[in-house]
Amino acid sequence: MRYVGRFAPSPTGPLHAGSLVAALASWLDARAAGGRWLVRIEDIDPPRCPAGATERILRQLAACQLLPDEPPLLQSQRDAHYQQALDDLVARGLVYPCACTRRDIDAALAARGLVHQRHVERPYPGTCRAGLNGGTPRAWRLRAEEYQSNQPSAGVNERPDAMFLITNAGVRWHDRRLGAQFQDVAAQVGDFVLRRADGLWSYQLAVVVDDAAQGITHVVRGEDLVDNTPRQILLQAALALPTPRYLHTPLVRGSDGEKLSKQHGAPAIDETRPLDALAAAARVLALPAAPPDATPAQALALWARAWGETYNRAP
Ligand code: GLU
Repeated sequence: MRYVGRFAPSPTGPLHAGSLVAALASWLDARAAGGRWLVRIEDIDPPRCPAGATERILRQLAACQLLPDEPPLLQSQRDAHYQQALDDLVARGLVYPCACTRRDIDAALAARGLVHQRHVERPYPGTCRAGLNGGTPRAWRLRAEEYQSNQPSAGVNERPDAMFLITNAGVRWHDRRLGAQFQDVAAQVGDFVLRRADGLWSYQLAVVVDDAAQGITHVVRGEDLVDNTPRQILLQAALALPTPRYLHTPLVRGSDGEKLSKQHGAPAIDETRPLDALAAAARVLALPAAPPDATPAQALALWARAWGETYNRAP
């Protein structure tokens, strides 16, 4: 089987214990499958990417012996490809310009009795779907509701072994660690942004275009992104791009129970002690302990075998 995996960090800071889990898991999955492993630097939001962060991440990965099979792809250099995908969707009437500010969206949701909760997606109320009403276009949105409602009902053309299925009820998909997943994208997310009001590309568009461009067959990443996957599957279908297999890894939480993140000031992993950093990530992934005198390469070989026994058996 052809296998191409990837690790796709946003260089908003150095790697921390949480991001190393995704890096290690994606590397192990590729190695256990005898596949290729790529690194993509998701630097589409320049104001959030401090100088030197990309280089630091690549140094940290190298210290951990997580070495990509090709030079890293930088999203900051791929504007033309994102534009082409958007142009394609514009030409097919699958996107529309939106003039709403966040405040407009909250007001429209409040008028329907919906209050925005932290960490919960604000479903777009569809204000600009039928036209801008004189507003200034700010963002571009996918007609996700319409796209979903035009899909067949469940049961039609359904293959029992399908890894994903888009019906007019939503997106059903299989996660290799979490099992069966479902999201009604139309109701829970609504028409989502592909190009932001500030002119930057959205994560959803860039990730979908680049996973396809790099021929990614398997995505292994943190569980914080699990609820983004149905949006990406929908967008892949709209752009006639293939859908990779997905596996979402456990999150590392800080003592406050919050996901470890750069925003929460998670410390950088110490690249002078790569085995310690890798061993901590391996524990999160429930992999066996490596002997204390192992080199990173020996530990990685041990974990790749253990990983393969857990995850590479299933189809
Ligand atoms: N760049 C994203 C992040 O660092 C990950 C994207 C992905 O793996 O799809 O959270």
